[in-house]
Amino acid sequence: MALNQSGWRPQMNAVEGEAAATFTGNRALMLEEALIFEIGSLDTTGVDFAEAPKAASRLGGLERHRDIGLPGLSEPEAVRHYTRLSRQNYGIDLGFFPLGSCTMKHNPRLNERMARLPGFADIHPLQPVDTVQGALEVIDQLAHWLVTLTGMKAVAMSPKAGAHGELCGILAIKAALEARGEDRRVVLVPESAHGTNPATAAFAGFSVEDIPATPDGRVDVAALTARLGPDVAGVMITNPNTCGLFERDLKTISDAVHAAGGYVYCDGANFNAIVGKVRPGDLGVDAMHINLHKTFSTPHGGGGPGSGPVVLSEALAPYAPLPFVERQGDRFVLVEEETAGEHHGSSFGRMVSFHGQMGMFTRALTYILSHGADGLKQVAEDSVLNANYVLRSLEDVLDAPFANSGPCMHEAIFSDRGLAEGFSTLDIAKGLIDEGFHPMTVYFPLVVHGAMLVEPTETESKAALDQFIGAFRSVAQRAKAGDAALKSAPHFAPRRRLDETLAARKPVLVWKEPAQAQAAE
Ligand SMILES: *Cc1c(COP(=O)(O)O)cnc(C)c1O
Repeated sequence: MALNQSGWRPQMNAVEGEAAATFTGNRALMLEEALIFEIGSLDTTGVDFAEAPKAASRLGGLERHRDIGLPGLSEPEAVRHYTRLSRQNYGIDLGFFPLGSCTMKHNPRLNERMARLPGFADIHPLQPVDTVQGALEVIDQLAHWLVTLTGMKAVAMSPKAGAHGELCGILAIKAALEARGEDRRVVLVPESAHGTNPATAAFAGFSVEDIPATPDGRVDVAALTARLGPDVAGVMITNPNTCGLFERDLKTISDAVHAAGGYVYCDGANFNAIVGKVRPGDLGVDAMHINLHKTFSTPHGGGGPGSGPVVLSEALAPYAPLPFVERQGDRFVLVEEETAGEHHGSSFGRMVSFHGQMGMFTRALTYILSHGADGLKQVAEDSVLNANYVLRSLEDVLDAPFANSGPCMHEAIFSDRGLAEGFSTLDIAKGLIDEGFHPMTVYFPLVVHGAMLVEPTETESKAALDQFIGAFRSVAQRAKAGDAALKSAPHFAPRRRLDETLAARKPVLVWKEPAQAQAAE
């Protein structure tokens, strides 16, 4: 399609054959936006620099001879470009975000205020520790509360995400086994565990064996205990699990694993549902990561880095990675090297250059202190209540495979059973976009056919949930009635339905000038 007069081309799918087609592709005040390379031209620039003085090149012939090819835009053009793009983004500050397993909940602004204090925000990891005592105290206090909330012995603060924390825990297990002089090579992973669990065990050099789930969505304890033996290093269990259920038998499982000489890794990414209510240490867990960017409300994804501290049992604490913060009298030190001592002579080494994400630590501690013990308990209770409200409000229109397995935790799961011939979970997800909701997680967990996983979180009001439930119900009914229009949803979004297979198989990642693109065709 040719560039129009204003220098950019309306997007095909926004104008094609729709009653709402406009000359520009804009809809009311929702503006279409082309790529920056399509708007800007090489001949224009937004700045007016004086001619650079002639200088002899010292690049030995390596200097660039061709134009760098960046689009030139004036300041208002650049501002509008990015503002228009930002309006096409959907985020937790804009509306409900039922993306399960990820705790897309409101991040209190108080956290941000604290993280921006210059004493936390404007420091450098190589600064002398005497000048960052307050920051180290924040890390130490957060560590204290994480250990207290989980009933564990120690915590490694440096891992940078949940999966990184899993690796930390597995490496601690490996180090403990090596110290015992035992060569155990198998890690058992139940079907109801998160996909990162088997990936982590394999990455650390273990061979992974699946343990089946019972029809009610929990670990098959008999199958698991039957497989224990001298070759089993341990188990990795997600609790609450990816079916949205609490693994009620975890203590029994831990006791059996310990009796057989193994260790218990618990994936604690779903700690949101049980914080303040259950201490994993009481259930015999040896290592568990906590996603600060989920349970403790620090922004993540496009919004920032993650942080996955790992709490450790007495058995694994000596193997924690370096560095760590330690209180010595009235000051804090950063232990950077292995020294002989009660707690640290056997560290398995170092996972990251520095000691973690200061901004995340500050936000998480702010969140914990501002909620208090009663507030954190209420987080768990309300997140579970909200998920059960969604589950019970929709189970008459959608198949809920675990509806008879007792209350769910903080995630409600539905399947595609009962939709009209040719209709799928994807159609429901796309239909929800037209209703103004970011879709839930789809096709996960894998044990449920056409899974739809909704995590409302505790920060949504009943009014917000009722609106979502109403929209979900209406879209589900259309999918059951075989409403053809749903097959091509979304109709109102800036982009229509994409060919996801083509996008995944043949992604177009580099912009080419139209002339070049035509030549390539
Ligand atoms: C998010 C999540 C992970 C991985 O955490 P990251 O911080 O994304 O690496 C692992 N397990 C479960 C259950 C999760 O929800």
